Amino acid sequence: MTDAAELRRRTAELLAAHPPAGTDRLDFLKARFDAGLAWVHYPEGLGGLGAPRSLQAVVDAELEAAGAPDNDPRRIGIGLGMAAPTVLQYGTEEQKRRFLRPLWTGEEVWCQLFSEPGAGSDLAALGTRAVREDGGDWVVDGQKVWTSSAHVARWAILIARTDPDVPKHRGITYFVCDMTDPGVEVRPLRQITGEAEFNEVFLTGVRIPDAHRLGEVGDGWRVAQTTLNNERVAIGGMRLPREGGMIGPAARTWRERPELRTHDLHQRLLKLWVEAEVSRLTAERLRQQLVAGQPGPEGAGMKLAFARLNQEISGLEVELLGEEGLLYDDWTMRRPEHVDFTGREAGYRYLRSKGNSIEGGTTEVLLNIVAERVLGLPTEPRTDKDVAWKDLAR
Ligand SMILES: Cc1cc2nc3c(=O)[nH]c(=O)nc-3n(C[C@H](O)[C@H](O)[C@H](O)COP(=O)(O)OP(=O)(O)OC[C@H]3O[C@@H](n4cnc5c(N)ncnc54)[C@H](O)[C@@H]3O)c2cc1C
Repeated sequence: MTDAAELRRRTAELLAAHPPAGTDRLDFLKARFDAGLAWVHYPEGLGGLGAPRSLQAVVDAELEAAGAPDNDPRRIGIGLGMAAPTVLQYGTEEQKRRFLRPLWTGEEVWCQLFSEPGAGSDLAALGTRAVREDGGDWVVDGQKVWTSSAHVARWAILIARTDPDVPKHRGITYFVCDMTDPGVEVRPLRQITGEAEFNEVFLTGVRIPDAHRLGEVGDGWRVAQTTLNNERVAIGGMRLPREGGMIGPAARTWRERPELRTHDLHQRLLKLWVEAEVSRLTAERLRQQLVAGQPGPEGAGMKLAFARLNQEISGLEVELLGEEGLLYDDWTMRRPEHVDFTGREAGYRYLRSKGNSIEGGTTEVLLNIVAERVLGLPTEPRTDKDVAWKDLAR
């Protein structure tokens, strides 16, 4: 059994063999992965040691104290938070060995080709087709939308329809798609912030080898549940120090700019401060629950709370700053690699937080999930669950 003392010993060994000050960043990250100290709960040989997930904090603290580089988790959030757990659960040994190391080190960025113009909340209705050629490659045609980071991604997790003759949830298969394939065209989608961190992706005759299928043919919906449950935890359940998250900038402005204070803003700030703290502690609880297994629908509750709070707090910040809060940049179109709130002005946070109640499942749809799968309330009527996908009204 690998305990905290053993992990400290192994971390010290890693640091002695690869002193951070004199080691290339990528070389250090590769060595950390190979030492099983990347994500300690993953199996040996795949960046982990099969240790309890809760012990990751021990390794992280030792490495941070030694000034070791990290893998810039925000840049590779889709890979770490969504693709990796899915590859781990459903991938073959070969797929795990091929994909997980460069995913974790950040050498290869991942994106998520799930949503389509006609299938967002009703994701199982998706129409992108994958047809197998004589028992060989799959050929994929269709259009995906809102694909964050597609413009910098090497790989995508992709779900496509492989059998239109069965009901929508049953005819889907899950693939890993090479974003450098000539049939993949990525076009920017400009957001309310003026930036384009996400894209439309057109897939035309994209060839995917069967070796890049994750899970069984037709079982893609089940595989996708692993991705989606992990996505909600990744969005709503980030580890934050007190005042380190959403409420941080508003609390700082309040302290540093007494001339902006009013009684009403004070009341609202205090209320949101308390809610942010409750949300932070609940996320901590959820992470502890994760130690016992895969995330379940409870992650939906966390993501709901995060979206509402981030929007309310960024709204308060804009009000608190008065005219200054309305200032924003020059609207030059930029292509950030990923969303990043750190160091951005209140106006940016206000505009970008609008997407929080849509991405990773809309608030309405997540409320349905909590109602049905957490609280056990009666389900919505579903008239299409026994109808072949090809016969559905579109
Ligand atoms: C910033 C951002 C990043 C994103 N990144 C990605 C990505 O990387 N990859 C990817 O695949 N997708 C991504 N998405 C897409 C996102 O998952 C979808 O936008 C979302 O699932 C909603 O789908 P839709 O936009 O088609 O809206 P629709 O499904 O058309 O919904 C429209 C409205 O109807 C409501 N509604 C729909 N069904 C129900 C119901 N059953 N009950 C009650 N209300 C309902 C919705 O809540 C919403 O208000 C991203 C979205 C955003 C905003």
